[in-house]
Amino acid sequence: MSEQSARSDNTLHGAASAAGVPAAAIRLPAVHLILSDADCEPLLAAYGRVQTLDAARALLAELRAMLLAAREGGDTAVAVAGAPDTSIPSLLAMLAARLQEQNASPLRPVFNLTGTVLHTNLGRALLPDAAVQAVVDSMRWPMNLEWDLDTGKRGDRDNLIEELLLELTGAEAATIVNNNAAAVLLMLNTVALGKEVIVSRGELVEIGGAFRIPDVMARAGAVLREVGATNRTHLKDYDEAAGPQTALMMKVHTSNYAITGFTKSIELHELAPLSKKHNIPLAVDLGSGTLVDLEQYGLPHETTVRETIEGGADLVTFSGDKLLGGPQCGIIVGRKDLIAQIKKNPLKRALRVGKLTLAALEPVLALYRAPDLLPERLTTLKLLTRPAADMRAQAQAILPQLQAALGAGYEVTEEAMFSQIGSGALPVDQLQSHGLVVRPAAAGRVSNALGVLEQRLRALPLPVIGRVAQDALWLDLRCLQDYQQQRFIEQLALLTA
Ligand SMILES: *Cc1c(COP(=O)(O)O)cnc(C)c1O
Repeated sequence: MSEQSARSDNTLHGAASAAGVPAAAIRLPAVHLILSDADCEPLLAAYGRVQTLDAARALLAELRAMLLAAREGGDTAVAVAGAPDTSIPSLLAMLAARLQEQNASPLRPVFNLTGTVLHTNLGRALLPDAAVQAVVDSMRWPMNLEWDLDTGKRGDRDNLIEELLLELTGAEAATIVNNNAAAVLLMLNTVALGKEVIVSRGELVEIGGAFRIPDVMARAGAVLREVGATNRTHLKDYDEAAGPQTALMMKVHTSNYAITGFTKSIELHELAPLSKKHNIPLAVDLGSGTLVDLEQYGLPHETTVRETIEGGADLVTFSGDKLLGGPQCGIIVGRKDLIAQIKKNPLKRALRVGKLTLAALEPVLALYRAPDLLPERLTTLKLLTRPAADMRAQAQAILPQLQAALGAGYEVTEEAMFSQIGSGALPVDQLQSHGLVVRPAAAGRVSNALGVLEQRLRALPLPVIGRVAQDALWLDLRCLQDYQQQRFIEQLALLTA
């Protein structure tokens, strides 16, 4: 065991013998005595004999090496921390801690207080209960995933959601793949392999995590034909670029930025007649496609999939886990002949979704049949439409407890703030929100106080993730749901330590 790890192992303490540990301390209990101790039974039951034995051996080997090093070299770490207590109860406690740590899942629930509702790094949309239950069932029961129960013959997994998608979008056909990046890749590879795709220079987007239109285009085997300039593209730019080499005209939603000032871009309804004139299909990558007009819920307008189909798009691609509020997937809707080609592409098999995704998506789509009930039922919309007064009441309830937990080194206030929808949806629009703001107190200020605070919050059993800006930590309460609030408050006590 290195000096470094010996020092960081705070389970080691006991009677210290400052300069050099007596030889007797290296006589550790035999591993079988540890495993046969009655108090080891719960560990054996939880982790199994093989794993428990391995962990016990590793623990003893580390202790032995550390004690030997201490005896020979006068290990300062041991001198400072004291020689470890090597009694069986103490070793079992160390063993339990070690097994627990190595079995903890690296994927853990957290509190998203960043103010970004659809946070890509925190897993985007949270699913409504109906979807959660459907996923559980699909994991515990065989499902008619590709089995037509009417004919008793093999079916197509897309059929499970296609009808609903057509109803909600007005499209002729639909298919579903792993995510929207896959949808764009598959569409381009099917329709434009070896041919040109015309895209405005103002729409050559990069979405976080290495999705760039030019790169996806290249990987799909299509040739990007850029037209116009970054700030201005005219209809004649598309017209002049179109020819026998063109397979597709494509518009891409500029999801995460806005070009303002001296600008011009061609709207879908202007481009559609031109694509018809040239007999070239027109595709739109909507990114965060929504299925309903969000204005009815007091949110900014985001072009819906139906509007895009009605506006003349032959193919539309969008994500399942952005504004739609479902599981990660990519959906392609549009002209029947084009969707049929897409479904025949061998890449479709590589990019298809699993049954868990389909199980979750169907009930989410079904919720859209009752748009008036959607803000109650669809978690994403519920969070996006939460009234600021709700968050204010929550902030007032939590403030004294957070202040008490943080102590005099920090000052907590409740303030109005702005949330973001996130995941590239409506990038410049912000939602009025409310939350807690933590600032290092003027007196007794420690260096990097905000960094330390963030780290302490991340180290909680349910890590709390906020946002640092303007010399403060902002905890936006929009995404702290009622059922999560008690957990949040309970673990504040651990901050004090
Ligand atoms: C988000 C987005 C994508 C990528 O979608 P994923 O579901 O993350 O794969 C592609 N295009 C646009 C315009 C987007 O906003």
